[in-house]
Amino acid sequence: MIKFLDLHSQYKSIQPEIDDAIGKVIAASAYIGGEVVERFEQSFASYQQAAHCVSVGNGTDAIEIVLEAFGFLPGSEVIVPANTFIATSEAVTRSGYKVVFADVDPVTYTLDVEDARRRLTSRSAAIIAVHLYGHPCDMDALMALARESGLKVIEDCAQAHGAEYKGRRVGAIGDAGTFSFYPGKNLGAYGDGGAITSNDADLARQCRMIANHGRIDKYDHQFEGRNSRLDGLQAAILSVKLRHLDAWIDHRNRVAAAYLSELQDVDGVVLPRVASGCRHAFHLFVLRTPNRDALAAFLKERGIQTGVHYPIALPKLEAYRYLGAPDPAMFANQADGQLLSLPVGEHLDETQVSQVAEAVREFCALAVTA
Ligand SMILES: *Cc1c(COP(=O)(O)O)cnc(C)c1O
Repeated sequence: MIKFLDLHSQYKSIQPEIDDAIGKVIAASAYIGGEVVERFEQSFASYQQAAHCVSVGNGTDAIEIVLEAFGFLPGSEVIVPANTFIATSEAVTRSGYKVVFADVDPVTYTLDVEDARRRLTSRSAAIIAVHLYGHPCDMDALMALARESGLKVIEDCAQAHGAEYKGRRVGAIGDAGTFSFYPGKNLGAYGDGGAITSNDADLARQCRMIANHGRIDKYDHQFEGRNSRLDGLQAAILSVKLRHLDAWIDHRNRVAAAYLSELQDVDGVVLPRVASGCRHAFHLFVLRTPNRDALAAFLKERGIQTGVHYPIALPKLEAYRYLGAPDPAMFANQADGQLLSLPVGEHLDETQVSQVAEAVREFCALAVTA
């Protein structure tokens, strides 16, 4: 069996460090806040090359808290790519703003900045760039558009810890970056967790207050906030895993490079590409094929697990019916039936990667002759 994700083998590979870190938090009863959480925030800020990091309860809260901190007028519009996890757009609505979907680029699957430009109105307030699958969005084009139009930019980095755009880590290129530490992400906790990164000290401070009941001191509440925090156990686990993250991302890139080289001349699949000047975090290796469901079934027969990210483009979901009919001309609305994610991760060895590639080749050869 070739697993899509193997959290147990990852734990086994670093068990003494993890067990020690967990033991220390329990011995100190440092469950909420304190030094372990502060130390993680500092090391994560430095890893992402951001001046500030505010840890929060999960990646969805991170987006919501930044949106709330911006304090736009109710009903302001926020542009979100049509292909992402629903958390990105959900946070917009939950914050009292209006979701406006823009298309994604057919090569990188990240926001099509020109399409975002076409969707601007007098009520546009922000754009959320999702570094989807771990590939950085075209930040130069996006930041130019944001400057011209006076828009705020949030980078949804839930899948892109460690990814780089022109030598800079993602997360503090726009006004703020948001991260998820959901267990299956490239940097995952043993439960929920999230973070906000920014180079803007005032924005970071506002986010920290929102996430902590609007307070600056124990009972000195400046406004009504909420409770969204990373706990001590998760911070300790994440601090250990952060030390291994670059090696894991490098391994993911080796797996992806092997797929790309072994599948380059195969008919019937469109392979992902890495834009020049980018470090892809390869959270997901997503190819495109008209025979997606048949290929997934073929691989499953051979004991190879796959995933689909995402099977229904956001504008086509029941949840967004209120926005009107999805635009059939949008690439995102056409591609969702063709996307297939192959296993990629530090748990895979060369032989397994070759087995996956060989099975894809075999399927495509059959499909061509059929
Ligand atoms: C996982 C994910 C989120 C949400 O993170 P949670 O920690 O599960 O709330 C947001 N955006 C994207 C693109 C994600 O993949």
